[in-house]
Formats: sequence, structure tokens, C-alpha cells
Amino acid sequence: MSNNILADNLRVINEWGNDFFRLTFPSEIMERSSNINQLEESAKLISSTLFYGERKGKLDESPYNGSGINNSIESLTSESLWIYGELHHPAGFTPIKEKPFHISTGRTYKCSNCKGKGVVICRTCYGKGWKRDSEGRIRECAWCSGGTNECKTCRGYGMLEAIIIVDSQYKLAKHHIEDYSGDVPKPILERSSGDVIFDEVFEYPSDLQGMLVGGIDENDYQLLQNNVKALLHKKIDSKLENYEGDIALVHRLVDEFFQKIPNPATANKVLVDEIYPVRLRVKIENVPVYQINYIYKAKSYSLWIYGKEKKIYSPKSPSEFTWKLGVFLGTIIILIGLLVISGLVGGIAHFL
Ligand SMILES: [Zn+2]
Ligand SMILES: [Zn+2]
Repeated sequence: MSNNILADNLRVINEWGNDFFRLTFPSEIMERSSNINQLEESAKLISSTLFYGERKGKLDESPYNGSGINNSIESLTSESLWIYGELHHPAGFTPIKEKPFHISTGRTYKCSNCKGKGVVICRTCYGKGWKRDSEGRIRECAWCSGGTNECKTCRGYGMLEAIIIVDSQYKLAKHHIEDYSGDVPKPILERSSGDVIFDEVFEYPSDLQGMLVGGIDENDYQLLQNNVKALLHKKIDSKLENYEGDIALVHRLVDEFFQKIPNPATANKVLVDEIYPVRLRVKIENVPVYQINYIYKAKSYSLWIYGKEKKIYSPKSPSEFTWKLGVFLGTIIILIGLLVISGLVGGIAHFL
């Protein structure tokens, strides 16, 4: 036993080791180990999240009834998927998929399925409108009226209009970095949580849609992002004055993040795929990590307790024949025995 280790940590290790399915791990390990000592490590999880909207447009066609067009797309320079439909600009950071809608293009043309006639020839009577029954009598065709059917493509109008089907959703782009130099692998550490010491949300202008028309100008967009970035750097310096971690790393993450997030100035294709940023969040968590060293049966081991969840990382554990393994093997032997016996009984019953 040792005195510098937190009683809570001893309890957590014993509970973890006592788990029945950790079959070869000795029970009550901390009671039976010597030279137990605890080292406190510091870990910071720094994460940034971008909440952004994305609309994708797919060309399609719909029946045109000739009543006049309600929208016409002349030139891409005055277009954007985001100037149509309803705009929600949702709160928070929850990804949302919205109902698809369509945009009229004003481009109409003859239906190619019926060549503009609005009707197609019946395939059952080949356009005659009648058929002979089994006794040779003439019967009206049950599948059409007068040898033709309404064209399904244009619903009988003979004309179609090109439309754009728009899929709309709000998504997240995440990026994180860890300020930690200990042994717990970073992908594992990332899944734990700690005390939040910095959490800031930045809203992009809600009238950003205007900027999207004709495609975002790269310079305008850069200017907007630089402003947000500068605000963020300032906030970090003022709010984290007494930060005991590597503040340069926090600033670096912010810069890296802005390079990695989807960039509408280069990625957007007007009326095909258009994104716009909604809000941005930077969060820093202080994650507790303890390295516990102990000696069990003359061999030394280390394990780590990390996160508020008190998870355990034990890359090398003592392994021996335990009562748990005994019970486990005993149960399997009994089960096999029962199967053999029931097989024998079944066999005898069959003979009798
Ligand atoms: Zn017919
Ligand atoms: Zn048609």
C-alpha cells in the first residue's frame, strides 16, 4: 500500500480489475501490490467545430402545363441555391437534414417520351383500342381509351420543364489537437472528457447568403474568415491569461482549423454544391490523467486513469490463473458435460 495515491483511484483500479471478464487479472490488485505510487499528468483537449449549411442541386424535369414560368435562370452570376426555399439558420450544433425542394429554371421543351403529343400508344392493343377474346369476338381494350394512354412523363401536357432538386442540410466539421506528452494514446484520450476551461462560439453574419450569389469572392471570404480568426485569437489571449498549458498550441489549432474547414470560395459550384458557414466553436478541456505504478509479485507495472469518466489504460497487466478463470472454465466443462449426457440419453432412447 502507499499513501500518495488518491483513495478514489485505488477503488477505481480494484473495480476495473475485479470485472469478471477480465479473467486473468488478479482481484483486489491494489491490496496485494507494493510500491504503489501516483504521478499526475496534465492533458488538454482542444477542439474546434464548424457548423455549416450545404445545399446540393441535381438537374431533373417535371411536367409543364403551359401556364407560364415562375422563375427563369439566365446566368449563374445572379444565382445561388441559398436564395431559394426557406432559410432556417438553425440554432446550436445539431446536424439537420431538411426536406428537399425544387427550383424552376424556366427552360421548357417537348416531352421526348410522347414527342409532345401528351399520349402514348397502348402496348396491349397496339393502338387499335380493341382486342379479340378467346372466341374471336371484338372486345374493347381494357388497358387504354381508344388505343392511347396519357404520357406518364409529362402527365399529358406534352411539355416538360427543367428543374433543380435541392437537398439541404446542416453539418459539422471537427478538428482537434491534444496538449499531452504521456503514454495514453491520443485517439483513446480524445474519447474522454475533462473540465471545460474555454468554450467560445462565434456567429457568422446571418445574411451571408448574399455573398454566395454567383459564387463567393475569394477575397471577401478571406476577409470574413480573417476577422473571425482575429477575434478568436484575442478571446483566447484574454480568457486564458493564466493558462498552464501551451497557449501557442491553442493558437496553432485555430490557424490549422481555418485552413482545414471546407472553403466555399474554392469548393462551391453555383447551383450544384454550395456551402456557407453558420457558426464556429472552440473548446478546451482539462483532462485529469494519473499514472499509477505498482509492483505485483516482484514485477513492476504501470497503468493510467484518465478523464472525468475515470477510464483505465493498462497496456501491460499482470496475468495469472484466477478464481474468475476457474469459474469460467468450470462452467464450460459443466455445459459440455450436460451436452454429452443429453446426447447419450437421446442415443439410448433412440435404441429403445
Ligand atoms: Zn389498348
Ligand atoms: Zn410526354
